Amino acid sequence: MSVLLHVPSLLIAAAVAGGCVSASHLLIWRAGRNEAAVLLWGTAYGVATLAMTMVGLRGQIPAFLSIVVGNALLLLAFGLVWLGYRRFIGKSGRGDRLFTLLGAIAWFAFAGAPQLFSDINLRVQVVSAVQFAYLLAIAFDLFAHSRKEPLPAFLLTVAVIGVQEVLLVTRIIYLQLFPIDPAFDTLPTGLPIGLTLIGSTAFIVFFGLLQLALVGQRSERRFRVAAETDGLTGLANRRRFMNDVLTRLAACPGRGALVLFDLDHFKRINDSHGHLMGDRALVEFAGILANVASGQAIAARVGGEEFALFFPDADAATASDLAEGVRRLTGAFRLRTPSGALRVTVSGGVAGVADIGSDYESLHSAADTALYAAKREGRDRVVMHRRHLPPLQLAAVASF
Ligand code: GH3
Ligand code: MG
Ligand code: MG
Repeated sequence: MSVLLHVPSLLIAAAVAGGCVSASHLLIWRAGRNEAAVLLWGTAYGVATLAMTMVGLRGQIPAFLSIVVGNALLLLAFGLVWLGYRRFIGKSGRGDRLFTLLGAIAWFAFAGAPQLFSDINLRVQVVSAVQFAYLLAIAFDLFAHSRKEPLPAFLLTVAVIGVQEVLLVTRIIYLQLFPIDPAFDTLPTGLPIGLTLIGSTAFIVFFGLLQLALVGQRSERRFRVAAETDGLTGLANRRRFMNDVLTRLAACPGRGALVLFDLDHFKRINDSHGHLMGDRALVEFAGILANVASGQAIAARVGGEEFALFFPDADAATASDLAEGVRRLTGAFRLRTPSGALRVTVSGGVAGVADIGSDYESLHSAADTALYAAKREGRDRVVMHRRHLPPLQLAAVASF
């Protein structure tokens, strides 16, 4: 079995795997140059490849290079991988550089205590413990960040780290129970070492693939979000709104209410104060809408100066009250223009699923009819659609 798992060959295989991952990362970084993490990871894999080569040349190069420098480079590679993940999730702190180097520094300090350092078991245990610490720090960061940016590869990475952590702890305990003969001064061989190297090679390849998957998933997500977001206000656009509302209506067919808003005399704002001022009014109104919507409604810009709120769990009366809040906040707000403070007003139309049914077309048409009534009745008001009343008797729930 120990011949089957020939340790120097396995080390070469691990180094080649590391070299391939390094090359692929660096080539991908060169093509895009916008992801510093990929450069750090590519460099880390390059450093790890060099480290594994030096460790593998034990007996053929000076022991200082193979044991002290080789393992210090390996721990530096772990530090760089950690730093790469920090950059990837946009986290940075003053101590980042120190923490990146800390593993290698600790290793050099350990090498300064010859009576301890001469024990191969303790050396392997220290290297494993430092790797454990770096991987744990990565797993914590990724787990916390995955809530903000839900990329599937984050949790997969945490799972792979979990497996590797178990292997590292097993290695530390195994060496405690079955130490390698300290008299050994060449590369240790045997089944446990061979299996460890196979595990490390799999980890190198899998971890590298997951890093590329993260980069791909992030860019795919950014494109998707951009395609569903209104570029001016940051609210959902019509496509996203429709998608979300149809999903909610299908899930809970009997509930919900739709409010359509349209800024009043918006053309005048553009004509008198310029298109840019009009844009600022849209952004301010979107802010008010987003605040009112937060947590209880889907808010969107569905047209030029037309906006919508869908309340999945509210009835028309509650939605009207909240829409009335939006109207009041909008009327109270003043847009600063070179020619003085400008008051912007908005009209709203409300329709409830309980009255109209859960067909979106009908719901939209009812809210639109109510909005039209609000405009006709003088603007700056919210009108609720009432199913059983003829169009002219739509109820104005509020004005001024
Ligand atoms: P009403 O009270 O009846 O709604 O009158 P209104 O002037 O708001 O309605 P109208 O539909 O006549 O004008 C809407 C204007 O909104 C016309 C268009 O130029 C403007 N608009 C549409 N999209 C944008 C935008 O992104 N930025 C700016 N500044 N204006 C926009
Ligand atoms: Mg309009
Ligand atoms: Mg308008």
